[in-house]
Amino acid sequence: MVFPFGSLLDFRINLTDEHEMFRRSVREFAERVLEPRVREIERSNRIPEELLRKAGENGFTGLGIPQEYGGQGTDITFNAIYVEEVSRICPAFSVATLVHELFVYPVLRYGTEEQRRRYLPPLARGEKHASHATTEPQAGSDVAGIETRGVREGDGWVLNGRKYFISGADKADYFIVLARTSEPPSRKERWKGLTFFIVEKGTPGLRLGERIEVMGIRGSHPYEVFLDNVYVPDDNRVGEEGLGFKIAMETYDYGRIGVAAQAVGISQACLERSLQYSIQRKAFERPIIGFQAVQFHISDILTKLEAARLMLYWAAALATSNRAEASFAASMAKLFATEAAENAALKAITIHGGMGVAVEGWVERFLRDTQILKTYEGANDVQRLVIMRQMMRQVFGMEIP
Ligand SMILES: Cc1cc2nc3c(=O)[nH]c(=O)nc-3n(C[C@H](O)[C@H](O)[C@H](O)COP(=O)(O)OP(=O)(O)OC[C@H]3O[C@@H](n4cnc5c(N)ncnc54)[C@H](O)[C@@H]3O)c2cc1C
Repeated sequence: MVFPFGSLLDFRINLTDEHEMFRRSVREFAERVLEPRVREIERSNRIPEELLRKAGENGFTGLGIPQEYGGQGTDITFNAIYVEEVSRICPAFSVATLVHELFVYPVLRYGTEEQRRRYLPPLARGEKHASHATTEPQAGSDVAGIETRGVREGDGWVLNGRKYFISGADKADYFIVLARTSEPPSRKERWKGLTFFIVEKGTPGLRLGERIEVMGIRGSHPYEVFLDNVYVPDDNRVGEEGLGFKIAMETYDYGRIGVAAQAVGISQACLERSLQYSIQRKAFERPIIGFQAVQFHISDILTKLEAARLMLYWAAALATSNRAEASFAASMAKLFATEAAENAALKAITIHGGMGVAVEGWVERFLRDTQILKTYEGANDVQRLVIMRQMMRQVFGMEIP
């Protein structure tokens, strides 16, 4: 009945009073601190540093980091709640959290104790920022196709390559960089021979390239990053040599829950704005909410929103209990929630009529944002493949031929 899951109990979501109290505190922060600055962020295409500092002061930069490393010691559900509530107001603001997770997860899970003690506390306090650098101009979905090279030299490594679309690289103090450190044994095993390294800002040869202008998430920018003969000691290697691909895939499984949370926040915003507008706006002498077509659009937004929210917190619950199925649950949540958010944004634009397409109407931005959510941390069509592959692997122990 519940195939490919084991039992109905696998669908438990486990939200508690503590989660709800936390949600309220994030909403208060988002409405009081962020909302008054959204127009400025959209117009200037810049997130003021002081807002990131305030998130740090509220403890939000320490989510997902254990207390022994200066964090809040909270599980991934708290991260999802934070990202959802912030994205309801300003999706771009939550990108910093997603990017931090892509640094924190591999260091926490595969790094050395020394790396955890050095890098995690300043990130938890919000004093330092991190970036995750995997993508290259010729390799995004195809992670194994990266060309950045890491060559052993003495007690360390020399890195050379060009990374592309690296979010937050302008603010980053620490980069986690994926490089090829050995040739793969065969074409079929291209994923072998990749390794992660931490590179600190200021390391000779590490250079910021052009800023890439994208259609949405205004205020958060991806950058090109160059590595020209960058020397890092072997102490900066994260995880075993050659294990980088596996670490990257696990990191994205975890990170996709954050993208699903961004999408749920956007759908929530579209629902609230559509309801408010359709109650206030009159046509043919009656509020437009009286028209059945408008009611249908709102019902669709609401239905998909709640389904997406259930998938999000279900994937987070599976990840919290370290269940293997969390990997494809996270992909399903990312796929469904981002497409639901795109649909919600389109319907919100329709309901707002002319104001829907006017920049000053403040709903068209959500459609632009959803296109980015559908692309990063694994494009949605790639998620469709990942869902099938992971499910077949876990349920039948087989690879798709
Ligand atoms: C705003 C933004 C921020 C980003 N931030 C970061 C970051 O911080 N760090 C980082 O490392 N990367 C980052 N990225 C990169 C992002 O992860 C990649 O853009 C994404 O993985 C897609 O890769 P690509 O752009 O190379 O597209 P491609 O891999 O070239 O794919 C192009 C199209 O082909 C489809 N496709 C590719 N392979 C298959 C397949 N096997 N089956 C079916 N369809 C397929 C894809 O679905 C897509 O529609 C960011 C991207 C954006 C837009």
